[in-house]
Amino acid sequence: MGEQKARVPFGERIKIKDYDPGYTGGVSKKEIKAQVKANVQRMAELQETMFAQGKHSMLIVLQAMDAGGKDSTIRHVMDGFNPQGCHVVGFGVPTELERDHDFLWRIHPHTPPRGHVTIFNRSHYEDVLVVRVNELVPKSVWQARYDHINAFEKLLSDSGVTILKFYLHISKDEQKERFQERLDRKEKNWKFNPGDLKTREQWDDYMAAFEDVFARCNHPWAPWYIVPANRKWYRNWVVSSAIVSTMEKMGLEYPPAPEGLDKVVLV
Ligand code: AMP
Ligand code: MG
Repeated sequence: MGEQKARVPFGERIKIKDYDPGYTGGVSKKEIKAQVKANVQRMAELQETMFAQGKHSMLIVLQAMDAGGKDSTIRHVMDGFNPQGCHVVGFGVPTELERDHDFLWRIHPHTPPRGHVTIFNRSHYEDVLVVRVNELVPKSVWQARYDHINAFEKLLSDSGVTILKFYLHISKDEQKERFQERLDRKEKNWKFNPGDLKTREQWDDYMAAFEDVFARCNHPWAPWYIVPANRKWYRNWVVSSAIVSTMEKMGLEYPPAPEGLDKVVLV
């Protein structure tokens, strides 16, 4: 098998079954772990510059099937970010008040202000994933949402927000193992949600829904990455590498010193 590129090609309809969730590029775990460490260090430097400059911001969207590793990715990869200037927002089942509004109403207030990084643990994409698979709204309603999402993300991008979207791709077998761990290990019991078993049964419907997301909401200003996520260390490398290379291109630099700073004498 050749190289598996994580970034979904623009203007194409991909098939998720062509993406191996166990892919590791033939690189060793030891080698990769050192690179992740370097990436996390670099992210810290870049974020500090972003914060000081106060011009750009970054939105990182994480989506996955249950037990796909969203929480763990946040813990390991985002470790490099200074909590001052970094926010994590999780989106669960909408409240009644949220459901009484358009689907982006609850999302928009959480987008990152200038200088900040925000990570979405689930996102507005749930409104074309779980909502579609479970027919929580009529088809005509969720069908229109791809355009709404594209317009929303374009607005953010035009307003200085750099957007990165990651689908953490695990296999159904890997999910079974992780669920089993949640059942077996006392400190993981709290993570087991019987409702997730129904979602597991709908696996193929979810894959079809994700394929539509990648076909319809993948643009240079808001790209999707399909991250091979069976191996946590490789997942962390793909995510951290994409973040570093994106931040390197953002034109981040420290702001110029205030005028007259060279004449300041401390007494
Ligand atoms: P967790 O990430 O384990 O806290 O679970 C959050 C749950 O909220 C998942 O089952 C999601 O599918 C569900 N959820 C998130 N957004 C929505 C939405 N817009 N409509 C319905 N369910 C949602
Ligand atoms: Mg859960």
